[in-house]
Amino acid sequence: QAPARHALFGHPVAHSLSPQIHAMFGRETGIALTYEAIDCRPEDFAAALERFMAEDGTGANVTLPLKEVAFPLCAQVSERARASGVINTLVREGEAWHGDNTDGQGLLRDLRNRQALDLRQRRTLLLGAGGGARGVAPALLDAGIGDLFVVNRDGTRADALVDRLGLPGKVHARYYDDLGELGDFSLIVNATSAARNTGLPKLPMSLVGSRTACVDLSYGEASIPFLSWARAARAHDVVDGLGMLVEQAAESFKLWHGVRPDADPVYAELRQRHDALVTA
Ligand code: NDP
Repeated sequence: QAPARHALFGHPVAHSLSPQIHAMFGRETGIALTYEAIDCRPEDFAAALERFMAEDGTGANVTLPLKEVAFPLCAQVSERARASGVINTLVREGEAWHGDNTDGQGLLRDLRNRQALDLRQRRTLLLGAGGGARGVAPALLDAGIGDLFVVNRDGTRADALVDRLGLPGKVHARYYDDLGELGDFSLIVNATSAARNTGLPKLPMSLVGSRTACVDLSYGEASIPFLSWARAARAHDVVDGLGMLVEQAAESFKLWHGVRPDADPVYAELRQRHDALVTA
């Protein structure tokens, strides 16, 4: 039997760790699979996905900037994908795609299990309102965080995310200029790609209190600016996105193959390699 064929679609994707992660999961579980990275721009995605299906593709991940455009290409979507409006996992069902989003669950598994953080009642600041932010916000609310403040350069995207979450009085949209007046937070999540662009806007250290956990969805070089700021502000916990990356991949693997691989050995190996690279 031919190995199950998978791909990651995004732009750019060349440096993604997902092909390595899924190859390691395949070896661990004894499931034969292939997983390739396909660089694709939003305007080409529908055709590329059709081609992938015609060539026996059985499952895919979707990363920036395609998470939103993937949504209308799905015949059905899971509850959690509907709550976020963005897709990171496609599962083939016959001649159609079922869309899901494993980012939120991936983040929760890393924060609660690996980092041993209790998220309940944490007053939370979410930086960014793009695909990553939209994927994790419903999961954080389900995990019982306290008030949630969403800050984004483009205020219309922050408003759209807040409206989608539908909890007036608990979830609020703000601008970066307002940050000095918001007091401190017990959880700050950076879901921007700012480090890859012009850099993060200035964040006041007054955002960080004595128990604050600062979490970046990014990893590697891209996580350095926010995590350095968090350390300078003496955050209690400082966490990058590598654990989330491995956990969301394990969730996707389970959707495709019905088996959840043990993410810990894969995380340990990547952490070792990653830290050597970032500190080199
Ligand atoms: P999107 O392109 O969908 O969104 C980008 C977000 O970053 C937007 O909110 C955008 O704001 C904001 N942004 C970009 N540049 C700046 C800047 N200079 N200053 C302030 N805000 C900025 O990307 P994603 O949400 O998909 O990804 C965001 C990050 O999260 C990436 O680094 C990605 O790798 C990471 N990620 C990691 C995952 C993991 O498993 N560890 C999973 C998902 C994402 P605006 O709307 O105003 O342009």
